[in-house]
Amino acid sequence: MNRISLLVVHCSATPANRDIGVTEIRAMHKARGWRDIGYHYVIRRDGTLEKGRADTVMGAHVAGHNANSLGICLVGGVKPDMTAETNFTAEQYAALEQLLDTLAARHPAARICGHRDLSPDRNGNGKVEPGEWVKACPTFDVASWWTERKGAR
Ligand SMILES: [Zn+2]
Repeated sequence: MNRISLLVVHCSATPANRDIGVTEIRAMHKARGWRDIGYHYVIRRDGTLEKGRADTVMGAHVAGHNANSLGICLVGGVKPDMTAETNFTAEQYAALEQLLDTLAARHPAARICGHRDLSPDRNGNGKVEPGEWVKACPTFDVASWWTERKGAR
């Protein structure tokens, strides 16, 4: 692993009523032929934080950025018809805030963002815009949310 310069928030793209965690996501990722779960952390629907890969091991969660990032997955993020929906629980946001506090203290230079923010900037204007998002993951603007949460404290 290189130095951690990105803390990347994802969603599992599963409906709100699916109460899954590391065990189930690890099984899904292994079924794709990966050697382990792609994420370093998973936050379950009830806010429980579960550990995926060790932080010292490169994850498999964001194309082109795995060598310098840690991946955090919020369980949820789609409607029953599998289209994107921001449906995370208050407990999940609280757990995410706490985790990011810890990780940001450990990696003070790291940028906190969502998976969609790392989509390629296709028109080269220096901004990754909604039309350029490869996926909606994690369905909300993580950087703005983080700034607001910190401002509220
Ligand atoms: Zn993602």
